[in-house]
Amino acid sequence: MSTQVRSCPKCFRLMWLKTDQYEPLDEWTVRAKCPHCGSTVRFKLVTEGANATGPKMGH
Ligand SMILES: [Zn+2]
Repeated sequence: MSTQVRSCPKCFRLMWLKTDQYEPLDEWTVRAKCPHCGSTVRFKLVTEGANATGPKMGH
């Protein structure tokens, strides 16, 4: 895995999380502690595959 950038759902600031700053819960989910407000947040990893390119365009 690599550095993840997510916005915190509590304080809405960006979290830049290096690999040693978050822990995998399962194959798709990681848990991290927000460096700004200290909240424990979970987010989904987007990895290689169907969802890696983001939302489908068109229609
Ligand atoms: Zn936060």
